[in-house]
Parts: sequence; structure tokens; C-alpha cells
Amino acid sequence: DGAWKILGRVVARQSLVEMSRTMDEMRPFVASLGLPDSVPENTFDALAAEEAEFGRSLAKASAGLARSQGEPWLVAMLEDLAALAEALTALETAGQAGMTEIQRFEEANGQLARLVPAIRPVAVPATPVESAVAVDDADGPEEAAVEDPVPETLSTTETFVNPEAGEARVLIGWLSAAVLLLLLFISVGTAVSILRPVRTLMTATRRIADGETGVVVPRGGIRELDALAVSFNSMAERLAAAQALAREYHGELESKVEERTRQLQHLAGHDPLTQLPNRRQLFAQLKTLLESAASDGMRVGVYFIDLDNFKNINDSMGHVFGDRVLWAFAKRLEQVSRPFGRAARLGGDEFTVIHDRAGSAEEIVAAGQALVAAFEAPLEVDGRELSMSISVGASIYPDHETDAESLLRAADAALFRAKALGRSQLCVFSSELFDAAAARFTTEQGLRRAIERDEFKLYFQPEVNAATGEADLVEALMRWQLPGGQCVTPDQFLTVAEECGLIGQISDWVIRSAVATAARWRHGDWPEVRVAINLSPRQLLDSDFVENLLETLAQHDLPARCIEIELTENVLQTGAGTIESLRRLRRAGFGIALDDFGTGYSSLVSLEQLPLTRVKLDKTLIASIDSSPRSLAIASAIIGLCQGLGLEITAEGVERPQQLGPLMRHRGMYIQGYLLSQAVPASELLAARAEMPARWRDVRAAREQNRPLLTSVGS
Ligand code: C2E
Ligand code: CA
Ligand code: CA
Repeated sequence: DGAWKILGRVVARQSLVEMSRTMDEMRPFVASLGLPDSVPENTFDALAAEEAEFGRSLAKASAGLARSQGEPWLVAMLEDLAALAEALTALETAGQAGMTEIQRFEEANGQLARLVPAIRPVAVPATPVESAVAVDDADGPEEAAVEDPVPETLSTTETFVNPEAGEARVLIGWLSAAVLLLLLFISVGTAVSILRPVRTLMTATRRIADGETGVVVPRGGIRELDALAVSFNSMAERLAAAQALAREYHGELESKVEERTRQLQHLAGHDPLTQLPNRRQLFAQLKTLLESAASDGMRVGVYFIDLDNFKNINDSMGHVFGDRVLWAFAKRLEQVSRPFGRAARLGGDEFTVIHDRAGSAEEIVAAGQALVAAFEAPLEVDGRELSMSISVGASIYPDHETDAESLLRAADAALFRAKALGRSQLCVFSSELFDAAAARFTTEQGLRRAIERDEFKLYFQPEVNAATGEADLVEALMRWQLPGGQCVTPDQFLTVAEECGLIGQISDWVIRSAVATAARWRHGDWPEVRVAINLSPRQLLDSDFVENLLETLAQHDLPARCIEIELTENVLQTGAGTIESLRRLRRAGFGIALDDFGTGYSSLVSLEQLPLTRVKLDKTLIASIDSSPRSLAIASAIIGLCQGLGLEITAEGVERPQQLGPLMRHRGMYIQGYLLSQAVPASELLAARAEMPARWRDVRAAREQNRPLLTSVGS
């Protein structure tokens, strides 16, 4: 202690190192003191010398050591040194005494050895049994010798046993045998008590592995094995419970799979919304029906059904409501067709009904009429009464076609015609309908080409102010210029364009083109230009329509008042959103004209709800205004009403001077028709406008003189 260890080396005071070395020299001598036989002669002297050396070193360095190691250390060291000297002296003394004793012991041993020949030796028996026999044989001559108290000799190579010792050996032999037996018994017992439960456990494990349940092993055996058996039984119990649970799950799973399979089968053949059979199922059923009808000479009817106006309901009321309408519709259709056949949904708003077996074509037509009639009563959906009608196309097996596919196609062609005839119509197939379908297809292909090749043109027809004879306004009318030079009017292609979805692209073109032309006139010779553009109500359903239109106008620097929007009344059926769009257009400054008023379902509601600036009297009403007092009365009433509402009025389709008579009596009238001008290309419009006041004078003069016009623009 008190030395420093630096990098594995000890640095200490010189005196301590010397003392340590002295002690190291002392150590072999001290060690030799413990030798068993004799201590080397000079050991004690050497030890005393080293000890003295140590004492000197200690004394010499005592002052330094007292400082470095401490006073108590020095005192203890001196005391230890004194004790060592004392112990050494005592050891030396004891060693000398020991030597004396050893000498005495050797002497006594010598005397004892001399006494040994007086004792007689006895041979040791070869086995314990022999010795036992010798012990039993009490009469043997050895007895005396055994009892002889003095052994003849005492040698290290022979054993001398007295009879008592022999008996003890035999006893020990027996005891050993017994102990061995006992050991054997215990070993066997232990082995059996371990092996049996282990084997039982193994068998039970195998049974469980083979799928058996409720396996229980008997308890018993050593503690650990018993605990193992208890654990095993509880494991088997849990396993059985888990298996039972798994079986239960499995059962449930199986029934779920069965249920799902049933659902999937149902889904594969049914429409998920209405639960009616779908197209696939319909075809399968129709094929079977046709086969049986073929064998017994019956007729089968196929009806193709379309909900009039469903698209508008869907667009304006949302698809969720649309789905409810379809569901309610399907329920009624199913109910109505049940007496004679079955209903199916092909998708969207396309439904079919099959007349299973009919004796005659008339029977099938009558059932078709019943279908149409059944939907004339309003349909209740979510507490609302919806008046919705259906159009039906019918085809008959074997009169029209003989296979399912063709019958359906024929019914579809008939449906197309039924829709063209108006609402609530039944149309039975005839071969010309296929020709019409083919024509439709040709038109559609032509329209696609026309869009690509820019074959549309805008023509403009003046609307002449009756007070001034000026063409204040022109209506843009579309023409399709075929590559061969013929001009196709919109009546011949607009319906097809709407049906095949091309109307959007065509309408966009009309707006861009009309706005561009109007802007050109406004920035040229006609600063007060006003151009009327026809819109299909569907265009207003586009939520971006108003923004796009304003954007187009801005691009051409054209104010909104230069454009008038023409719409027919069916815009009211497209819902509140479109009317709001119209209001925005009105607020922006556009003129809004209600086209074709006075025919069909014209209603005062339109005049009240739409933000109008003009009403255009339909040409069918104007056509008979000079010949039918009824037409005149209706036209006059409408004109009076519109004047009361502050609306401008245009009479369309004016062809004869005589038609002007009843019209001229009213203020704010505009006249449009072949009498004044046909629709002309943009390039001719300004010239036609310039001539208009003169033309107007001629026309009025002709009327007053009640004579036909000398020059006519009509064709
Ligand atoms: P509309 O809006 O009622 O247009 C007036 C139609 O009557 C035009 O037929 C015009 O040429 C014709 N017409 C004008 N004066 C007379 C006349 O004195 N006698 C007779 N019999 N007819 C006359 P058009 O140009 O064939 O247009 C037919 C319909 O097509 C238009 O009826 C309009 O509903 C629609 N249409 C025309 N251009 C467009 C368009 O750019 N967009 C949309 N959405 N529809 C258009
Ligand atoms: Ca129009
Ligand atoms: Ca019109």
C-alpha cells in the first residue's frame, strides 16, 4: 500500500523495496519450516540473520516510513517484527523438543518391534463366506488360536483377524448384498415409475396427434411426472376446447360460404338495385321460352321499355333519388307484367318485359298497351308524386325474329320510333324501322366526320322590328355543309347528335362561332349587333357553362347585351340549377328568349318562372293566324300577356303578307320568316340587313293592297 502503480510497474521508496527484498529472501526459509521430515540445519540462523537485516532497515528508514506509511503502520510493523522474533525463538525451542520426542518414539518403536515375534500369525480367509464358516465352526482347532490374545508375528504382508472380526465381515457381506438388492429394487422401481408415465404420455400425445379428443392421462408417479400429467391433461382439455371452437367456426364459415355462394349466384343473374333479373338471366329465360313456344306453336312478345325523361330526373335530382325512382319503377313494372310474363333490367333506365306465351300478336300488343297505361298514373318516390311515362317498343316471336338477340334488337328499334312519336307510346316493330336505325347510324358517323373536318356553318336569319323595319336582331342557325355541297338543316341531325352525345361539341362550336361573328360585326359595320343563339337545355346543366360563355365573350371583347339566348320550355324540366344559371345570364346582361311558344305544352308557368326578355311565337301558330280565328285568338292573347309582362315578341315563320295583319296591331313586335329573309351565310347578312327597311316597305304595301309580293325570298 502507499506505492504507485504506473503502467503496470510499481514505484516505491527505496527502504520499502529493500525491506520487501529481505522478506523475499526470508520466504524460502519460512517455507522450509513446513517440510514434513526435517528442517535444513541453517534455517533458523539464516532466518535470524534476515530478520535482523529487516529490523535494521526498518530502524534506518523509520523516520521516512513514519512520514510515508504513517505512524500506526510503523508501530504495527515493529510489533510484528518483535512478534516474529518471538515466534521464531518459540519455534526453534518447539523444534528441539520435537526432535527429542521423535528420538524417544524411535526407541520405543524399536522395543515394540523386538516384541513382535512372540505373536502367532493367522491366515486371512479367502472369502467372507469361508470366514463365516470358520466363525461358525466353533469346534475347529483354530478356535484356540483365535482366542489367543498374543499374535505370533506382526507383519505388513499378512492380515491377522480374530473370529469376531470375521463375523462382522460376513455380516457386512450380507448387508452389502441386501443394500445392493435394495439399490436394484429402487433402480428398477424408479425406472418403472418414470418409464410408465412417460410411455402413457407418449401414447396420449400420439392419440391427440391422430385427432382424438378428450384424451386424459392417469395421474401418479414421481412429483415432476405427476405435474407433467396434470399439465398434459389441462393442455388436452384446452386443445379439445379449441378444437370444438374451431369446428364451430368452421361450421359457421361453411354456412357463410354457402350463403355467399347463393348471393353470388343471385347477383350473377340479378340487377343489384332493383333485384330484377339482369340481361344474362333474361337471355337464358328468353331462350327457354322460345324453345317451348317453337314446340307448341305459341307466340312470345319482347318489350323494350324506356322511361321518358329519366335522364332529366337523374341530372336534376341527383343519382340517389334517380336510383329510388328506378327501384319504384321496377316494382310497378314487375307487378304489372306478372300476369302475363316477367320483367328484367338491362342497365341504366333500360328495362324489358317478356310476354311468356301468347296465342296471337294482338294479345301481345294489348299487353304492351297495358304496360304504357300502367305508368300514366304518377309514381310515388320518397313521398313525392312523379308523373313519369314510358315508351315501349315491341317485337314478336316468330313474326319478327326467331332468336333472343334479334328479338331484342327489333324491340329496341321499335322503341326508338315510339320515343320519336312522343311520350307514352307503344310501337310494334316493322322492317322499315331497321332502315331508320341504319340511317341514324350513317348520320352519326357523318357527324363525327363533320366535327373533325369542320363541316358546320352558321347562317343568320333577321328578326325585323315591325315599328322600324330594321333587322335589330339575327338568329344564328346551324347548317351542315356536306362535302358534295348539299346543306343539311339541324332538324335532320340534331336528334342524332343528342342521342350519341356529340351535341356538346357541336354546341360549343356554335357558341364560339356565333360570338366571333357577332364581335366582327360589332367592331365593323354593325356596332349595335344582336345575335340570338339556340341552346339545348342540356348545355345549361353544365355547371361551367355560364363562366365559359362569359370567358368567350371577354376574349372577343363583346358585351353580353349583344347576345340573346334561345331556349324552349323543356328547360324547366331540368331543375332549379339551370334556372339559376339563366338568372345569372340575365343579370350579366344577356337577352333570354323563350322559343317555340304557343305549341305543345306551353304553359304560363314558363313565363312566370323564367327570367325572359322575349317570347317567340311558334311558326305552327303563325301559319294559321290569317286563316283560323282560333289561332288568331290564341296568338293575340299570348301577345297581350307578353306585352303586359314587358317582353318583346317575335312572330316566327311569317311567309305571307296576310299574316302580318293581325300582328301589326301590337306594339313591340318582331317579324321573322321567309317573307322577309331566309337564313343567309354571315358573308351575306350585312347586305340583307341593309335592304331590310326597303323590303319591309314592300311587304307592308303588298299587305295593304292585299296582293302577293312580286319578289319572294322564300323557297
Ligand atoms: P328554331 O329555333 O325554331 O329556328 C327556326 C327554324 O324555322 C329554322 O329552321 C328556320 O330556318 C325556320 N324558318 C325560318 N323562317 C321560316 C319560315 O318562314 N317558314 C318555315 N317553314 N320555316 C322557317 P332550321 O334552321 O332548320 O332550324 C331548325 C331548328 O333547329 C331550330 O328551330 C332550332 O330549334 C334548331 N337549331 C338550329 N340551329 C341550332 C343551333 O345552333 N343550336 C341548337 N341547339 N339548335 C339549333
Ligand atoms: Ca330558335
Ligand atoms: Ca322557333
